[in-house]
Amino acid sequence: EVQKETLGFQTEVKQLLHLMIHSLYSNKEIFLRELVSNAADATDKLRFEALARPELLEGDAEPRIRIDFDAQAGTITVEDNGIGMSRAEAVSHLGTIARSGTADFLHNLSGDQKKDAQLIGQFGVGFYSAFIVADRVEVFTRRAGLPASEGVHWASRGEGEFDVATVDLGQRGTRIVLHLKDAEKSFADGWRLRGIVKKYADHIGVPIELPVQSQGNDEGDDASTAAPAWETVNRASALWTRPRAEIKDEEYQAFYQHVAHDFENPLAWSHNKVEGKLEYTSLLYVPGRAAFDLYQRDVPHGLKLYVQRVFILDQADEFLPLYLRFVRGVVDSADLSLNVSREILQKDPVIGSMKTALTKRALDMLEKLAAGDAEQYRTFWKHFGQVLKEGPAEDFANREKIAGLLRFASTQGDSGEQVVSLADYIARMQPGQDKIYYLVGESHAQVRNSPHLEVFRKKGIEVLLLTDRVDPWLVGYLDTFDGKSLVDVTRGDLDLGALDSELDRQTREQAAQASEGLGARLKLALGEKVADVRVSHRLTESPAILAVGEQDIAPQLRQILEASGQ
Ligand code: ADP
Ligand code: MG
Repeated sequence: EVQKETLGFQTEVKQLLHLMIHSLYSNKEIFLRELVSNAADATDKLRFEALARPELLEGDAEPRIRIDFDAQAGTITVEDNGIGMSRAEAVSHLGTIARSGTADFLHNLSGDQKKDAQLIGQFGVGFYSAFIVADRVEVFTRRAGLPASEGVHWASRGEGEFDVATVDLGQRGTRIVLHLKDAEKSFADGWRLRGIVKKYADHIGVPIELPVQSQGNDEGDDASTAAPAWETVNRASALWTRPRAEIKDEEYQAFYQHVAHDFENPLAWSHNKVEGKLEYTSLLYVPGRAAFDLYQRDVPHGLKLYVQRVFILDQADEFLPLYLRFVRGVVDSADLSLNVSREILQKDPVIGSMKTALTKRALDMLEKLAAGDAEQYRTFWKHFGQVLKEGPAEDFANREKIAGLLRFASTQGDSGEQVVSLADYIARMQPGQDKIYYLVGESHAQVRNSPHLEVFRKKGIEVLLLTDRVDPWLVGYLDTFDGKSLVDVTRGDLDLGALDSELDRQTREQAAQASEGLGARLKLALGEKVADVRVSHRLTESPAILAVGEQDIAPQLRQILEASGQ
């Protein structure tokens, strides 16, 4: 070992390590899933780089992952012949967390171990999960293309620091050795490891090999025999390439956890093979909860792109609109060139057609979820409703379809929970009603008691109550649904059309005449502060109300615009 140095972990890593070790004790076996997932990613990356530089393969072109163990020594080894890491890469990838928002995420942890375990899972535990079961981890790695003399030995006890040194490594790729904690030594067992691989990694497209297991195999018995014989224990064909009818739900779920770095199950998925002018396979998932960085605009959110099974890009966000950025999954194209890049993707007309088709698939998947399972859709809405509400503004062509997926709180029901669809609303309309009424405000408590609702209560007309930040924006782009216009109940002269009876009209006119003088005096007194003072028929209990002119910007939207400096 030369140039050995000891470096400290980034503060965030230390925090994450500490939390992980103390929160994930009930789900320890995920360490193997994480290491195998990284190994598979590494072989994907090598295949991709070798497209342009075939010499990187060094005559060893078949990707492979090997898991070995030594029960006596209490070690597990996970080895891949993928891209490997240079010294600088090892220091940065295995010593820091590069993802933006990490510090914010760590601040949100509560100290409640159960809740935190969930949050950490959502964040993605990754390489550091090795320390759930190991008290010492060694990594031997050499980046493809670098000479054998530029191998790297990385080692740590998962406390504050790690060592790195430069070593000779004949084999490119990465070998990770876990020195198991005393209490976790039982993981060094062939059958147990096989079970975990089957459970979490069957769908991985790279063969995962374990030593051939003979009956009554005693470790160390055959120390004289040379290399162990290996056998592949996973199915090793990329899941999305297999026929739908053959894939079990559990397999779809496990694959989701791999691509989405989530450790819960998705709410729904949609797997499709498209043939004809364009040829591609897509496998889209709706996660069960929002990723912590869903609202960070600078974080790319997208699908994993493959071209003819070769991994090309992570988080390709060219295939779905922003308002569907929570959708995860894979798209594998037969039409794109293998040396496609992000720049090319942005211009390629093929991508435009795929985006249109995939957007429709994703919306169809949500429609199906909404129609099939109200409870699941509620969960979906709780996590992603706000994002979907950006849809009508971004995607004019699909406005009606998106509108059908929206859910609102309304004057029906008091909880403020967003469960009313526009179709539900229309089904409950009063005879003669031809508009969808809504009221925008800051909180449910505030709008619920608004005097603007009095006349609607009196006439038994439902009003949608919109109190999300995006709502003023949303209604700016959504003026009709199913041929019915959406109307703000605070706007100018509220025309209730056929809902207004002749008797109401007469009474109002008389009242208006009787109060003319009062209106004029009030206008004089309020001066510049108001545009007009009118006698209103909206109120049944309150004496006065502030209304917005027909052409004016809604106050909530004005606030948003002012806040953004416009
Ligand atoms: P993620 O996989 O989400 O990026 P991880 O914590 O699992 O996060 O891994 C961190 C980084 O370390 C990876 O992005 C990769 O660059 C590097 N890495 C981990 N394992 C390997 C491996 N077997 N081969 C090459 N690089 C690896
Ligand atoms: Mg990983």
